Amino acid sequence: MQMRQTPYYLYDTELLHRTLEAVQTEIGKYNNYVVHYAIKANANPMLLPIIQRAGLGADCVSGGEIEAAVKAGFHPSKIVFAGVGKSDWEIRTALHNDIFCFNVESEPELEVINQIAAQMRKSAGVCLRVNPEVGAHTHAHITTGTAENKFGIALSEVERVICMAQQMDHIRLRGLHFHIGSQILDMNDFVELAHRINEIQEQLQQKGITFDTINVGGGLGVDYDNPHATPIPDFKSYFAVFHEHLRQRPGQSIHFELGRSIVAQCGSLITRVLYIKQGTGRQFAIVDAGMTELIRPALYGAHHRIESITADPATLQLTSTLPFSTADDDLQTYDVVGPICESTDVFAHNIRLPRLQRGHILAIRSAGAYGETMASQYNLRPLPKSYDLCSTEI
Ligand SMILES: *Cc1c(COP(=O)(O)O)cnc(C)c1O
Repeated sequence: MQMRQTPYYLYDTELLHRTLEAVQTEIGKYNNYVVHYAIKANANPMLLPIIQRAGLGADCVSGGEIEAAVKAGFHPSKIVFAGVGKSDWEIRTALHNDIFCFNVESEPELEVINQIAAQMRKSAGVCLRVNPEVGAHTHAHITTGTAENKFGIALSEVERVICMAQQMDHIRLRGLHFHIGSQILDMNDFVELAHRINEIQEQLQQKGITFDTINVGGGLGVDYDNPHATPIPDFKSYFAVFHEHLRQRPGQSIHFELGRSIVAQCGSLITRVLYIKQGTGRQFAIVDAGMTELIRPALYGAHHRIESITADPATLQLTSTLPFSTADDDLQTYDVVGPICESTDVFAHNIRLPRLQRGHILAIRSAGAYGETMASQYNLRPLPKSYDLCSTEI
C-alpha cells in the first residue's frame, strides 16, 4: 500500500450502505415515515450520492448545503432548510430550487421569507420550528429543546405565529418541526418529545388546525465507546418509539432528520505519531492530526476511541475483532495530543495503547459525523483529504 499523506479521513462506504439499508428496513415498517439526512454532519461529495441513492432526503442549514444537496442529486421536493439565521441569498436559493419547506425559527424570519417569496412570485412551504421544552440528557452545548433558547418558537407563541403564517399570501404552512438535541441515547427523551407533540397537536386541533407534516428532527446518538460492538445504531428502537408514542393523523407524514447516526461510525481519522514525549508524570503521543481536522474533543470534550492500526487497510473495517491486539504487558498509557497551538488540542487523556513509536499509525474512530465538515485551516493547515476504504484504487 502506497503511503498516504496523513492526516486523512477514511470512510467505510460498505458500512454506510449497511447503515442506510437498516434505516430503510425500519421505516419501511411504517406508513409515511420519511428520513432526511442532515448534511451538516458530513457533506463529503463521495458520501452524499450514496445517501441520496438510498432514498433519503436532505436537511440543510445553509445555502451552500442546499447547493451541495442539489448537486449530489437530491430532488428539491426532498430538501428542507432549517437554521435560526437564514440570510436573504440563502432564502432566494431555496425558493429558486423549489425546496419542500423551510423550517422557520422565528416570526421575523417568517415575514422575510414571505416578502422574498412575493418578490420572486413563489410560494414558500413552511414548517414552524417549535421549542417543545423537552430537555435531552446530552451535553449542554448540544441541547436545543429547552425553554429559553435561540432555536425555535416558544410554545406560548405557536398559535399566534400559525395564525400569522395562515394569513401570508406567499407562505404555505405544511406543519410543525422539532429538534431537541444531538447524541441522544436515552429513548425516553424521544418518548417525551412524542407525548409533547401529541399535546400540541390536540390543542391545535380543537381550534381546527391540522397539519400534513410533523418533523421530529434528529439527534439519535451513536456508541463512541464501542464502535466495533455497535457499528449500526439502534434504528429499530428509535423508529418504534415514535410509532408507539406519536399519534399520526390520517395521511400525515412523519419526517426525521438524522445526521450523526447515519455517518458517524463509517468514518475514521487516520493520523501518524510524530513524537513520543516523556513528561514528568505522563507520556504524550504527539500526532499529526489536531483540532483542525477533528474539533469535537476540543469543542465538547467529546470522546473518540483511538486504536493503533497496522498499515493494512483491510484491518480498518469496523468488525467485532479489533484491528490490533497486543499482550497486556506491552500496553502503555498516553495522552494523545495534536500539534495545534491551543491547550485544548487533545484527543485523549490517559488511554492505554500498545507501545507507540514515531511513524505508527492511529485510527480515531467514529469520526464520520461533525469531523470533516468542521475542519478548519487554522495555523494555515491544509484541509484533510478523504479516501474510501472500500475502493480498489489505493
Ligand atoms: C443538526 C441537526 C440535525 C441532525 O442532528 P443529529 O444529531 O446529527 O442527528 C437535525 N435537525 C436539525 C434542525 C439540526 O440542527
